[in-house]
Amino acid sequence: RYPHRELPLAPRYAALGRPYQVEVPATPLPEPRLVHFNAPLALELGLDVGETQNPELLAILAGNAPWPGYAATASVYAGHQFGTWVPQLGDGRALLIAEIQTPAGQRRELQLKGAGPTPYSRGMDGRAVLRSSIREYLCSEAMHALGVPTTRCLSLVASPAPVQRETLETAAVVCRVAPSFARFGQFEFFRHQGGKTALAPLADHVIAEHYPHLIDQPDRHAAWLGEVVERTARLMAQWQSLGFCHGVMNTDNFSVLGLTLDYGPYGFMDRFRQYHVCNHSDAEGRYAYYAQPQIGQWNCSRLLRACLPLLADDESQALEIATGIFERYAPVYAAAMERRWADKLGLREIRAGDLALVNDFLAILQRGKSDFTRGFRHLAKVRAADDDPAHGAREELLDIAAFDAWTVAYRARLRAEQNTDDAARAFAMNRVNPKYVLRNHLAQAAIAQAEAGDDGEVAKLLDLLARPYDEQPELEAYAEPPSEALSPIEVSCSS
Ligand code: AMP
Ligand code: MG
Ligand code: MG
Repeated sequence: RYPHRELPLAPRYAALGRPYQVEVPATPLPEPRLVHFNAPLALELGLDVGETQNPELLAILAGNAPWPGYAATASVYAGHQFGTWVPQLGDGRALLIAEIQTPAGQRRELQLKGAGPTPYSRGMDGRAVLRSSIREYLCSEAMHALGVPTTRCLSLVASPAPVQRETLETAAVVCRVAPSFARFGQFEFFRHQGGKTALAPLADHVIAEHYPHLIDQPDRHAAWLGEVVERTARLMAQWQSLGFCHGVMNTDNFSVLGLTLDYGPYGFMDRFRQYHVCNHSDAEGRYAYYAQPQIGQWNCSRLLRACLPLLADDESQALEIATGIFERYAPVYAAAMERRWADKLGLREIRAGDLALVNDFLAILQRGKSDFTRGFRHLAKVRAADDDPAHGAREELLDIAAFDAWTVAYRARLRAEQNTDDAARAFAMNRVNPKYVLRNHLAQAAIAQAEAGDDGEVAKLLDLLARPYDEQPELEAYAEPPSEALSPIEVSCSS
C-alpha cells in the first residue's frame, strides 16, 4: 500500500499531448468537506487507506492541489447529443488528474468532476452540484456491485460554495476512476480534425493500453472496433435486464471500453413501462427504456463512421468493412439479451418460445403497473411442480389473474429443464435478480440529508447497494417501491 505520492504514475494518455488534451489546473474549492471515501476502491488502487486522514490527499480530491508529478488535463471531443451533431464539446468540468498503475498492474485514470471551468466549458461554470454528484457516486458503485461495467467513484467532496442551477445549490467534486474515459465522441471529433493522422494515435493508445491482445493484428483497428461494438451490445443487454435507463445516451457519453459512463438523469424503473423516459429533459423520449438497444447500435454506427479512415484508404472499401463490423451488434445483443432473460427466469437452457414467455411476463408487469425489480425477484418463489398459485410471487403482481395464467406456461417450461430443483433455481435467480437497486426516491432521501449536512444516508445506501443480491432483512424497506404518496421525482439534465 502506497501513500498517494508514491503510487506509481503511468502517464501514457498524457503522453499523447496536444491536440487530444490541454493542461488545465483545477479551480480551488472553498471549505471542502469529505462526504465519502471509497475505501475498497482505494485499496484496489493501491492507496494506503489511512491516507484519508491526510490533508494533502483531501486537497487533491477537492481540486485544491495537483497530484504530485502529474499536470491535470481536459480532453476535447464532439458528439451527437439527442441525435444532433455537435462539432465540439469536451471535458467542460472534468479533469484528468492522474494515471496510475495499481499493485495488480492495472492502469487507472483518476478524474475530478466539477473541478472548475476548462476551455471546453462553453460558458458554463465547470462545477457540479452536490445533488448530481451524490447521484453519480451512488449509481456507479451500485452498478459495479450489480456486475455492470462502469466507471467508479473514489471520493465525494462537498463545499458550501453556491452554484446556480434552477435553484441555488452547492458545489461538490467527485473523483471518478476508470481504466480510461475515452469516448466515442473523441473519435468523432478527430475524424473532422485531421482524419486518419489524428485518429490513429488515439486508437493505437486505446488498443495498446486496453486491448493489448490486438496490438499485433494487421487489421487491429477493425478488430478493435468489432470488440467495442460487441461490448456495447452486451452492455445494453445488461442495462435492459436490470431496468436501468441511462437518460443521456449521447455519443460523448459512450465509452470505447464499453463502460457505463456519465451518470446524470438515469433511473432504475420502479413500475415497468417499455416507453419509460427517465430524463425529464428528453421530451421526445429518444432515450426511452425500449429504445436503448437501438440507440446503442446507432451510437456504434456513429463511431464506425468516424473511424472509416482507419479501416481503409479507399472509402467504399472502408464502408464495406464498417458495415461488416456494424452487423455484429444485432446478433451479439440478441444472444446476450436472450441469455440474461433466461437467467432471470431461472432457465439454464434456451429454447424456442422463451422470449415469448419473457415478453408475456413483461406485458403483465406493464399492464398491471407492477414493479420491475420486485416482479423478477419474487419469481424465484414459483415452484415447478406445484400448481398452487399462492407461492408468494403473485403478491408482487397487480394483475393476479393474468399472472396465474402465465405461471401455468412458466411452470411447464421449468419442468422441461434438465434440472428442476426449486431451491437451486431460486438461489441462482437471486444472483441475477437484485433485491435492491438505486431507486430515485432512495437517492433523493440521501441527497436531502446530505444537503442538510448529514452524510449518514449516503454511507448507508452505499453499504446496502454493495450487496444488491443479498437479503438484508433489517433494510427491507429499501426494497420497496416509492409510496404512492411520494410525488414522482423528476430528474433532468440539470446537474
Ligand atoms: P452531459 O450532458 O452531462 O454529458 O454534458 C455535456 C457537455 O456539457 C459535456 O461536455 C460537459 O463537460 C459539459 N457541461 C455540462 N455541465 C457543465 C458545467 N456546469 N460546466 C461546464 N461544462 C459543463
Ligand atoms: Mg457527458
Ligand atoms: Mg453529465
